[in-house]
Amino acid sequence: MSIAVVTGAGRGIGRAIAERLATDGHQLLLVDVSEAVEETARELEGTAVRADITAADGMAAIVSAVRESGHGPAVLVNNAGITRDAILRRMTEADFRAVLRVNLGGPLALTRELAPLLQDGGAVVNISSRAQLGNVGQFNYGVSKGGVIGVTRAMALALAPRLRVNAVAPGFVETEMTRAMPSEVAQRVVRQIPLAEPGQPMDIANAVAWLASHEARYVTGQVLYSCGGRSFA
Ligand code: NAD
Repeated sequence: MSIAVVTGAGRGIGRAIAERLATDGHQLLLVDVSEAVEETARELEGTAVRADITAADGMAAIVSAVRESGHGPAVLVNNAGITRDAILRRMTEADFRAVLRVNLGGPLALTRELAPLLQDGGAVVNISSRAQLGNVGQFNYGVSKGGVIGVTRAMALALAPRLRVNAVAPGFVETEMTRAMPSEVAQRVVRQIPLAEPGQPMDIANAVAWLASHEARYVTGQVLYSCGGRSFA
């Protein structure tokens, strides 16, 4: 039995990753702080764990759900993330810390707790962002996603040769997160994408699925940009 743990699976990119990993034959253990995860789990015939990845009781709930499944997971996808954008003058210490806590602290803590339980040959995929290269108003988010890459590389070294650890860095993807942006900002960003359209959640899910698969058995510590070419444009 091959189990995949996906955080932030209630909606958006996390939900698409869950769908794609189910197609690849994984049993799903789906984590989200939102109750939407119950619905996703019902539809994809997985197990829902309603948990906050930044809270001690949330972490304990995830670890005990993994233990109860009776199998070490083959895949962990650290996808849950938040934004709290603001212009520099309005970027508060609280907004800075909140984003780092979820986006960077979450993957670090969850991987620390689950790595010993993952099957030999297993894979961790962390969701970074093209925003780590710099985006207006994303001082906190950019730092957190750049940090995810640093953590990915350190984890890849720490957990080799037993586990592989890689990151996917999406560009602008159509989800609730980007629908919350002012439309003129969103349109400006889309105009900067060489492939001339926003990404879809399944574009990111496909990249994650490849890194999680045996086909990527010789790939660790890498960042795969799925951003329509915007990382170098
Ligand atoms: P989203 O807001 O639609 O979904 C994120 C999910 O994570 C939500 O269901 C939310 O409840 C969950 N979540 C948030 N905090 C949590 C916590 N503390 N514990 C457990 N669950 C939590 O976002 P999305 O667009 O699907 O983004 C998914 C990931 O991809 C994030 O890490 C995001 O930073 C990254 N990303 C998104 C884009 C984009 O354009 N949408 C681009 C680059 C990177």
